[in-house]
Amino acid sequence: MSDKTSKGQRRESTYLYLRLLAYIKGFPLAIIGSLMGYIVFAATTPATTWWLGFTVDAINSENFQEFRVLSPLLCLAIVIFRGIGGFCGSYSLALLANGVIHKLRVELMEHLMLLPSSYFDGVTSGKLVSKFTYDIAQITGAVSNAIAVIVREGFTVMGLLAFLIYTDWKLTLTFLLIAPVVAKVVSVASKYFRRYSMQMQESMGELTQITNESIKGHQVIKSFNAEKYVGRKLTRASEKNKIQNIKMAITRSASTPLVQFLVALALSFLVWLAMSPEFFANKSPGDFVAFLGAAGLLAKPIRQLTQINSVIQRGLSASKSVFSILDESIQADLGKKEAKGVKGKIEFRQVNFFYGRGENAISNISFTVKAGQTVALVGKSGSGKSTIVNLIPRFYECSSGKVLIDDVDIKNFRLNSLRNQISLVTQQVMLFEGTIAENIAYYSETTNFAKIAEAAERAYAMDFIDKLPMGLETQVGDDGVLLSGGERQRIAIARALYKDSTILILDEATSALDSDSEKNIQKALNNLMAGRTTFIITHRLSTIEKADMILVLEDGKISDSGTHDQLLANSSIYNQLLSGYSEPNKSESIL
Ligand code: ADP
Ligand code: MG
Repeated sequence: MSDKTSKGQRRESTYLYLRLLAYIKGFPLAIIGSLMGYIVFAATTPATTWWLGFTVDAINSENFQEFRVLSPLLCLAIVIFRGIGGFCGSYSLALLANGVIHKLRVELMEHLMLLPSSYFDGVTSGKLVSKFTYDIAQITGAVSNAIAVIVREGFTVMGLLAFLIYTDWKLTLTFLLIAPVVAKVVSVASKYFRRYSMQMQESMGELTQITNESIKGHQVIKSFNAEKYVGRKLTRASEKNKIQNIKMAITRSASTPLVQFLVALALSFLVWLAMSPEFFANKSPGDFVAFLGAAGLLAKPIRQLTQINSVIQRGLSASKSVFSILDESIQADLGKKEAKGVKGKIEFRQVNFFYGRGENAISNISFTVKAGQTVALVGKSGSGKSTIVNLIPRFYECSSGKVLIDDVDIKNFRLNSLRNQISLVTQQVMLFEGTIAENIAYYSETTNFAKIAEAAERAYAMDFIDKLPMGLETQVGDDGVLLSGGERQRIAIARALYKDSTILILDEATSALDSDSEKNIQKALNNLMAGRTTFIITHRLSTIEKADMILVLEDGKISDSGTHDQLLANSSIYNQLLSGYSEPNKSESIL
């Protein structure tokens, strides 16, 4: 590694330290508690060697019987202080470390939820999950173990050195000659620790992603007999992680004995010097025992201090990864207006939009919907239907042009307030952990049970909910796997009814349904659409026919628009599309 990059890395480390420190600052009592505790703890180590010297001298003195009580009492006192100090230190540190992690985790989730949809397009969920689990655990390790070792062992080293300097400063200085060599070894090892930790985070993300995918898609995997393939993929990722872990362990295992050897070398030199006649000239045997004892005790804390380096480096690179999310800019929410009470007139004015750097997904979209009307969007898959409706709740921002509700640019509304006016039912119904009632009232501060039951009733969901063991209080299970597609769909409709918003977006909300639930869902949808401005994307002809306006999309542009009859007469694309659309039960059609 060149000097320039290592300088850059050092600057980055300092920055990361300081940023982590900012989190630690929020817990002043815990900091003071752990410092005080560990200082007391550390002081007992030189005190022990002092006690040893004291006792040796006492035995050698003429009236040593006087010390027979004092010496053991002193020993007990030292141990008691050590115990209390150690307890206060580690208890306060646990408060501190868990406080920091809690704060970081909560902040991370809050920030993540404010990021625009485009951010989520660019990352895999596995990598994100692994930031919450693996990376945060690494930071916990760094904050709790590293601070414990640095403070406790650092003070121990300082205490022992102070004791040695007090006894004989010239001898002690010779011992300190090894310090720069130890520092060099530690800094070289740090670079490798950082490199491997970064790689380990990457591979943990990959592993989490593969695991998630495999668990979620277990049926698809089985249907393709792809178990072996998935197994190989996981083996590869896990192998990579294993090798990185081993490399890390090698670096750690090699650097620790090296440091230990250096310390031992210095210690031997010290003993050699200490055994010289000059040293003995004006010292007692007790001084000698205490001095060598203190010097001998230095080895362990120094070793621990160098070992903790790998934990710190892992924590630093994990915090870099976590901070990188916190540094992503959140979706702009500059509007001040409240959208509450809007009538629901919606206008698209010259709207263009592209995802990332690609070409326009939709171009030059202009149309107006009166409040309470229904617009159907039709067009081939990939023609831009979902893209258009996703601009209304500002999941994505128009690249140019604007969307207006009641003649106000939607950017002028507060984001929360805007989204409060919009209900969205899509093909993929997301059910959250909890009861059915909680899923219908998702997300309300106050849950009104009568209102939930009414929404379920109007969504024609009550018939199957009543058959469930606990009714509305039944747990939906992991992502509602216990419910059929049609049942999930009706819960989604009940959710939209409960929300009771002015604007409704139905994006292929009925496309994955069995014909059995079809009829009920149509009735439920009629209930839902009544009195709301509705955008509907569907293949059901009966629904399209009834729409007040139909937009025919082709390659992201509106190629034709009008009512069903107008389009039937004038639009060849519309006629072409209709021939492909299904109408399973026209005679029973409700709309
Ligand atoms: P539709 O709903 O009509 O099937 P979409 O609006 O989903 O079509 O897609 C319009 C175009 O934008 C397609 O070419 C699609 O590949 C592209 N697209 C959709 N979502 C994304 C995305 N998140 N990132 C990049 N491109 C996208
Ligand atoms: Mg779509």
